[in-house]
Amino acid sequence: MEMIISVVIFIAGVALAIQAFIGLSFFISSVWEKERRAAFFAGLQFAGMLAVLLVFLWLARAGFFRTAAGFGLLIAGYVVAVVAAILLVRRTKPNPSALRGTEGLIRGEVNRFDEREQVFARNRTIRPGSKEYEIFYREHPQYEAYDKQRRKKGGPLGSIGAIDGKKGGPNVEATLACNFVPQAFSTPDKVKPKPIFNPMYQSKGEESELKVRRYDLSPEEATQRVKGFTLSVGADLVGITEINPLWVYSHKGEIFNENWEDWGKEIVPDKYAIVFAEEMDFRMVGAAPHTPTVFESMRNYSKGAFIATQLASFIANLGYRATANHLRHYEALMVPLAVDAGLGELGRLGYLITKEFGPRVRLGAVTTDLPLVPDKPVDIGVGHFCKICKKCATCCPSKSIPLGEQEVVNGTLRWKLNEETCFDYWGKIGTDCNICMRVCPYSHARTLPHKLIVELIARNANARRIFSFMDDIFYGRKPKPRPAPEWTKFK
Ligand code: SF4
Ligand code: SF4
Repeated sequence: MEMIISVVIFIAGVALAIQAFIGLSFFISSVWEKERRAAFFAGLQFAGMLAVLLVFLWLARAGFFRTAAGFGLLIAGYVVAVVAAILLVRRTKPNPSALRGTEGLIRGEVNRFDEREQVFARNRTIRPGSKEYEIFYREHPQYEAYDKQRRKKGGPLGSIGAIDGKKGGPNVEATLACNFVPQAFSTPDKVKPKPIFNPMYQSKGEESELKVRRYDLSPEEATQRVKGFTLSVGADLVGITEINPLWVYSHKGEIFNENWEDWGKEIVPDKYAIVFAEEMDFRMVGAAPHTPTVFESMRNYSKGAFIATQLASFIANLGYRATANHLRHYEALMVPLAVDAGLGELGRLGYLITKEFGPRVRLGAVTTDLPLVPDKPVDIGVGHFCKICKKCATCCPSKSIPLGEQEVVNGTLRWKLNEETCFDYWGKIGTDCNICMRVCPYSHARTLPHKLIVELIARNANARRIFSFMDDIFYGRKPKPRPAPEWTKFK
């Protein structure tokens, strides 16, 4: 019996020590994140856990747990711990619709989206007085007055960087410095590359063979190679989906490098998409809606163009069709493709939410006919968590994110972001805002306690309720921007 009591006391001591360690790591994480409010509460929490551990050790040393009352208390503690663990850790019912990816959201007829109607294509591409302007607004008179008024206010981003002063400052210059990369990588030869001729074959007189050469790779090997390549050139996450044509634009609408013959061209869906995500820096996003965040978006768009065009070129060299999708050349909607490729779920804020970085990512893709093995969609609890949380909708300054339930829009069940009012807010402040991304509980830095919480949220419905509530306590219902890195200071 003595031996059993000793083991019970030892296990309880270890459990309390682990709990205090997690409390300490949350406190350290909050200080590192420069989250003053969270650090205060995490400090209090850690102090409480430490006090419990010290009292426990003191009582154990005094032999209290070897008395009937002490042992009874210990067993009661065990019961509470086991019940709490069952309530918080056990895997609750999965969300069958999440496991079907975008298929699980379809409720009726879905019409493919025409990129010409997209808010950027209307306001950035079409020039007043041009043939395209005349054609588009003749067919879509409902947009004309609204867009005209918007153009008067300065167009897509209004006066860029306006929120941090009239001239924007060095962060705007840094943003523009990154902007040229996607622009340069959007010429037809970059987005739909041809195989690069390999001089090794020429010396053997095999040039003509190379031009039609196709590497005969099994889907498994091709998948391993393209995924490995994508990660090695800079992506943080990669997944593959067989393309649902519904998520491919019906017609091209955004034009760069004066490639006007593409405007209005019908887009033929390809077979597979390799979709990738890059993590946006936690500190930069923390300054949203100020200029560090628009620099961070553009830095990742630039990186995305670099990754997508190299991946497209790699696949073209293998002898297959490949189209790079990045900031300056999209042929499909990235978020639904990413959901189907198993990178995450669609959140209330309209972005993809990944398990690894939350919505703090930028997406890119390459579409191809190279046979690949698709990934499966995932259920990480986002659908349920977003129903409880609503923080992005509460914090959105333009009220563009709905606070209510999902609704069926163009045949799909989702929270419908109002792109028009969101876009107008961008124009007003001169950045891409990103407040919704900053405040989302999934966006916290991926330190140990946050990883643990995301893991629990992914598997358990009670954890979603508790951690949504705790996020409000620790970070506030309307969290303030965090200090940006020194080199991006804006005031
Ligand atoms: S980017 Fe800003 S304005 Fe747009 S939905 Fe998010 S919070 Fe609202
Ligand atoms: S802030 Fe909350 S409701 Fe909004 S996307 Fe993130 S988890 Fe969902």
